[in-house]
Amino acid sequence: QLSKRLKKVASYLPESALFADIGSDHAYLPCHVCIHDSSARAIAGEVNEGPFQAAVNQVTEQGLQGRIEVRKGDGLSVIEQGEVEQVTIAGMGGKLIRHILEDGKDKLSKTDRIITQPNIDARVLRQWFIQHNYVLIHEDILEEDGHIYEILVADRGDPLAPYTDEREKELFFGPFLLKEKDSAFIKKWKHERDKLVKITEQMRLATQPDENKIRQFQNQIKWIEEVLNDE
Ligand code: SAM
Repeated sequence: QLSKRLKKVASYLPESALFADIGSDHAYLPCHVCIHDSSARAIAGEVNEGPFQAAVNQVTEQGLQGRIEVRKGDGLSVIEQGEVEQVTIAGMGGKLIRHILEDGKDKLSKTDRIITQPNIDARVLRQWFIQHNYVLIHEDILEEDGHIYEILVADRGDPLAPYTDEREKELFFGPFLLKEKDSAFIKKWKHERDKLVKITEQMRLATQPDENKIRQFQNQIKWIEEVLNDE
């Protein structure tokens, strides 16, 4: 049974998807998609031997070798230029996902949808999408097994379309998530606020406190308070 998190990621792929799942581990996501859509095809990329073998085994067990190719390599280096129409990258930090996209951006000439599920630092992906002319079209936040996950879906298009003149704040919270204020969103930001309060208290105790950083965190705490108090 595929996790709720990966099911949600899969739900943003179109019919007859032709996609690469980077950091695929057991290739659960491409297997699920190809089992449910007989016209879908995928490349499962993995950099590490263990997960790569797990993916090969899973694809073989499911009899999907004809439609899912498992390739070993770093990030988007496993695909040819223009080879896939969609890319999924889930279960890593936002900075690693951004690094994978940035390093392999030349491969994305025919990729019109990117679906990411960063475990942390979603903001850096929102920024990357703006810089590379992808427009955020959906955001999701969900809780599973005590973790809160965000999913960001971007298509080619006007990258500033979802933002207002409060862009810094929207990049931080997510423009769609900020509008919805789902219960998982509230829970996440209460937790982040508590963490930031503790960190700034600790920072103030240093012999030479980093005043800039403290100010930056205080500003974020203020934003979070505003958003939570709006409830
Ligand atoms: N995508 C799956 C999911 O969401 O459940 C697996 C997530 S797992 C936590 C992260 C996977 O990404 C690991 O299997 C790791 O080997 C792989 N990985 C990390 N860096 C990578 C890179 N630069 N290129 C390809 N795979 C990578």
